Amino acid sequence: MAAGGEPAWRGKQLAEAIYRQNITELGEISTWPKILRGRLVAEGWQIGRPGIAQVFQSVDGTERYLVQAGAETVETVWMPEGDEGESGDGTEAGAEELRHSPQQKLGAPGPSHLGTREANESTADRPEEKSKSHWSRATICVSSQVGCAVNCQFCLTAKLGLQRNLTAGEIAGQVVSVFARQGVEVGRDRVNLVFMGMGEPFLNYDNFMAAVRLLVKEVGLSPQRMTVSTSGIVPGIERFAQESPDVRPKLAISLNAPNDAVRAEIMPINRKWNIEAVVDAVRRVKLRPRERVTFEYVLLAGITDQPAQAREVARLVRRTGLPAKVNLIAWNPGPGIPYQMPAPAAIETFRTTLAGEGIPTYLRNPRGRDIYAACGQLKRTVEG
Ligand code: SF4
Repeated sequence: MAAGGEPAWRGKQLAEAIYRQNITELGEISTWPKILRGRLVAEGWQIGRPGIAQVFQSVDGTERYLVQAGAETVETVWMPEGDEGESGDGTEAGAEELRHSPQQKLGAPGPSHLGTREANESTADRPEEKSKSHWSRATICVSSQVGCAVNCQFCLTAKLGLQRNLTAGEIAGQVVSVFARQGVEVGRDRVNLVFMGMGEPFLNYDNFMAAVRLLVKEVGLSPQRMTVSTSGIVPGIERFAQESPDVRPKLAISLNAPNDAVRAEIMPINRKWNIEAVVDAVRRVKLRPRERVTFEYVLLAGITDQPAQAREVARLVRRTGLPAKVNLIAWNPGPGIPYQMPAPAAIETFRTTLAGEGIPTYLRNPRGRDIYAACGQLKRTVEG
């Protein structure tokens, strides 16, 4: 607005209109004089939320969206009842909420309104449908880039390569578009955000943090209900450590291996920044009281799921000296990825071994596996 010759506070009014009042037409901004609205419309300016081009619904209630970002689409995932990813991270958004949830246990069949719907069904023709249902809390998984350059070997998004960075508006816009579809009311509903969709947020740092500031300051969300996951981009973590706690999400590190040798095999980025370098950077983040750093750990059959590796992970986590927890994720299969799902017994042994070593350990509940919405599966898969 300032660049267009208007006072800067007009920008504040514009943000208020878009993010609080959900206005999608310039002409409807009632705090503006008619002449200003008319001029901007005549100049061809538009406002609005990113459109939801396609919807895939899982039998477990999860919805995967292809959200329009210019000519591209990115993926955003809605998980009613979350996936346990927030459990035990020392904040109010964590395990405590589960106690109060009247809902079915996680992993049980999804809400009844989806009971007769086929998995993989596309409902692109009803993108703005509001389907407020019987969820007591929810998690939205947000993308930060179109594709990704990091090339984690177990991840379907990596197959796309990096196409482009999303703008701050496109990142925050995914959230407000899903809010509109689901009828989320900020301040009333418990919604957590995880920046774990397509892309590496810390390789699009400025836009990612600008989106967080929009979501905190304009939409009114708490940064303590947001978690950003990084593959270990050390310069990004160092910048993140400088952010004010007022706008700093919680931090998750995508660890996925008990040592550098295994990690470098499945995450080539480890050759640039190894585990020690990543942990050193994380130590600079000033955690809030009771806040924990999350180490995400993908279990790949025969590669990262051995009991001896669980003990090694425990030693590694202890050595960091950080208040931490481990989120285990049983690897989700995707086309063309040469790994095997871990056996249920291996998952359980790994979990109990790690927990037995005194490490707070949580098993992420795979959501939307049938619609390629689960962790590591996002690749604009329209084949379902
Ligand atoms: S796991 Fe994340 S960082 Fe790694 S390739 Fe996939 S999207 Fe990129």
